[in-house]
Amino acid sequence: MKNLREYIKEADEKGIAIGHFNISNLEALHGIYQAAKNLNVPVIIGLSEGEEDFVGINEAVAMIKSIREKNNFPIFLNADHHYSFERVKDCIDAGFDAVIFDGANLSFEENIKKIKECVDYAHKITKETGRDILVEAELGFIGSGSNIKESIPEGISEETMTKIEDAKYFVEKTGIDLLAPSVGNIHGMVKTGNPRLNIERIKEIRKASGVPLVLHGGSGITDEDFTNAIKAGISIIHINTEIRIAYDEALKKSLNDNPNELAPYKILQPAVDAVKKVVEARLKLFNNIK
Ligand SMILES: [Zn+2]
Repeated sequence: MKNLREYIKEADEKGIAIGHFNISNLEALHGIYQAAKNLNVPVIIGLSEGEEDFVGINEAVAMIKSIREKNNFPIFLNADHHYSFERVKDCIDAGFDAVIFDGANLSFEENIKKIKECVDYAHKITKETGRDILVEAELGFIGSGSNIKESIPEGISEETMTKIEDAKYFVEKTGIDLLAPSVGNIHGMVKTGNPRLNIERIKEIRKASGVPLVLHGGSGITDEDFTNAIKAGISIIHINTEIRIAYDEALKKSLNDNPNELAPYKILQPAVDAVKKVVEARLKLFNNIK
């Protein structure tokens, strides 16, 4: 089986994107895996620090590995938005395929220093074990929280989008494998509609940085923007809020409709199906499957 780096390279060449979906539990994992398996496309499972604390770091690795190895299926594990070198290191040690160091709250120079530390550690482990570990970092402001927002968060504007010359410098200085830029995307979904993406900026950043790009905050973006963003150089797309909403609504309905049901696997099945449905639609779009 190809490794994650090879799948990303292939996506980049084919002009498609790999879907990245977050989980907090086994049900969501089942829904995502079933969708990816039906379409026969690679998929990335993400865990934020909070999601990882809930699932368990070793449990997460064991779940993904069991699917990958038993079924010979390209499913990969990413440490989504980790805020310290120590937590990134824990994930690399535990067996994650990729990590994201989030230094959005640090100064530009401090951010570079911390990312470099993560990259050096990943390279060291690759050298020792042969495991290919990808390091991603974010540049520019895209807000935080996979939730529903009343309005576009403060500080999101043309001004806070990733600058082309910064992207180039940032990648050169840190040696990261993947870059998550700010190109009009924001974390979470805005009630009045998410902003449009700056497709031209994506194209320019991809060219200047020389690395595949990751689009965070995919929930709420229009199909047209997604398609154009992928053509412009986005190789991975993150979706979290949309599957949280699907899970939440299906679970509430299930509990409401069946007040006497006690078996968790019966109560939770509609939530699995709801996640699967959302993920399947997104994967079709990202992988250009009609
Ligand atoms: Zn993100």
